[in-house]
Amino acid sequence: MAKMQYAVIGMGRFGSSVASALSNLGFEVMAIDSDEQKIQEVASIVTHAVSADTTDEEALRALGVRNFDVVVVAIGADIQASILTTLILKELGVPKLIVKAQNELHGKVLSKIGADKVVYPERDMGLRVAHHLISPNILDYIELSDDYSILEIKAPAQVVGKNLKQLDIRARFKCNVLAIKTGDSMNISPYAEDIIHEQDTLVIVGKNEDLTNLEITYAEG
Ligand code: ATP
Repeated sequence: MAKMQYAVIGMGRFGSSVASALSNLGFEVMAIDSDEQKIQEVASIVTHAVSADTTDEEALRALGVRNFDVVVVAIGADIQASILTTLILKELGVPKLIVKAQNELHGKVLSKIGADKVVYPERDMGLRVAHHLISPNILDYIELSDDYSILEIKAPAQVVGKNLKQLDIRARFKCNVLAIKTGDSMNISPYAEDIIHEQDTLVIVGKNEDLTNLEITYAEG
C-alpha cells in the first residue's frame, strides 16, 4: 500500500509541530503557508514547502491538494481564512480534513461545512494540565467524546497491595480499569484478582463526572 500523503496548512506552533512529527515518522508532507518566512523555516524538515494563500481556490487547486489523503488546516487567529480554506478544500474533494478551531463556535462552523475532525489543541492541553494540577498522580487525561474520557493515574497509596475486586472501581465510581502498567509491561486485560503494586499506573475509562469523582477521592488520599 502506498504511504499516506499529508498536507498541512498554517505553520504556526501547532501546524509546524504536526508537519515535523509526520515527517519524522517517515510520511510525505507538504507544508503550506502564506508567509514566505515560515516556509523557509520548515523547508528542510518537510518534503515540500510552498508559500500560498489558501483562501485562493485556484492556488489550492494548482497545488494539487485534492491528491493528498489528509489535509490539516492549522490556521488559528484568522478565523475567516480558516473557514474559507476548509470550505474550498471540502469542495475540491479532499478525502480527510482535520481542522484546528480557536473556540467552540469556530469548531461548530467547521463541522457544519464538512471538516471530518475538529481539534482544539489549546483547550485539550489546558484540560490535561488542570487534571495534573488536581493531583500529580494524574499522568494524563484524554477526552474520548464530550462525555467520556480516559484517565492515566499513578497508583495512589490506598490502592497499593489490593486487587481490582477489592477496589471495586466499577461499582464505586462506575468506571472501568482498562489496563495496569507495571514498569515497561502493560497488562491490557486485567483480572479481578490482579494486584496493584507501588509505582503501577492505572488506565481508567469512564464518564467525565465519574472520573472526577474518582480523581478527587484518590487525590485526597
Ligand atoms: P499556533 O497557536 O499554532 O502558533 P495560531 O493559532 O496563532 O497558531 P496563526 O499564527 O494565526 O495561528 O496561523 C498559523 C499560520 O497560518 C501562520 O503562519 C499564518 O501565516 C498562516 N496563515 C494564515 N492565513 C493563511 C492563509 N490564508 N493561507 C495560508 N496560510 C495562512
